[in-house]
Amino acid sequence: MTAHRIDDLRLAAHTRELHATAHDHHEGRSPGDGERDGERARQRTSRALSNRLNDEVVRARRVAIAPEDFARFEGYAAEMLTAYGMDLSATSTLETPRRFVRALFDATEGYEGDPNLVAVFPTECYGGSSCDLSQVVEGPIPFTALCEHHALPFLGRAFVGYIAHEKIIGISKLTRLVRIVTRRFGVQERMTHQIAEKLAELTEPHGVAVYMEASHLCTQMRGVREIQAKTRTTAFIGAYEVNSSLRSEFYDLAGLQRGVRE
Ligand SMILES: [Zn+2]
Ligand SMILES: [Zn+2]
Repeated sequence: MTAHRIDDLRLAAHTRELHATAHDHHEGRSPGDGERDGERARQRTSRALSNRLNDEVVRARRVAIAPEDFARFEGYAAEMLTAYGMDLSATSTLETPRRFVRALFDATEGYEGDPNLVAVFPTECYGGSSCDLSQVVEGPIPFTALCEHHALPFLGRAFVGYIAHEKIIGISKLTRLVRIVTRRFGVQERMTHQIAEKLAELTEPHGVAVYMEASHLCTQMRGVREIQAKTRTTAFIGAYEVNSSLRSEFYDLAGLQRGVRE
């Protein structure tokens, strides 16, 4: 296969969960399965994106939260926190229900950002031999998200790489894209996919690579697993899918040495 445009190749976007619950494993692939799997993956991903991103319903719902709604939420929070043991009569905790409700709202502000508004710029692709090999790798991009299973934070860093064709995206916009996707309720695997797919959609590049690693407080706070455990997820699209040396170079450029854990 020599075509390198995402349009030809964007098919089999797959996430490899290295340390996480797998939703969609693509194991035991044979070469002939690629296109069919790829088409399924593409449909699934675009379905997921249309459900999860650009969600105007969620945005409208958030905008519609009135002061009396927040006051009611604070009442719920106060009731729960008190029952769990917090003394809300102290000066330091009097405002805690309000702060808690507000913090949760702020931590999910990603719903208010529209990834389609992240601007791209034209560039010149001469179609030369290196056009489909020249990577832009940005990171670490710190992120915090809320797991949709427990509504507790997971936080870590993301590395985003892409091989531009005719469009480029401002470096700061990569950070913005990561923030729009992660400041929501979700799961790390899906967010990794969403960042990759959205970047591919916006810039129509030769390829996209996304690596995320995070500590999940929902498991760590409850002693389900070791404090130091991190969940690592990747998503590769286009040239990265068919070229393992590009993937290795991506890890090198990101400063992620395999076998070395910080
Ligand atoms: Zn969780
Ligand atoms: Zn090109």
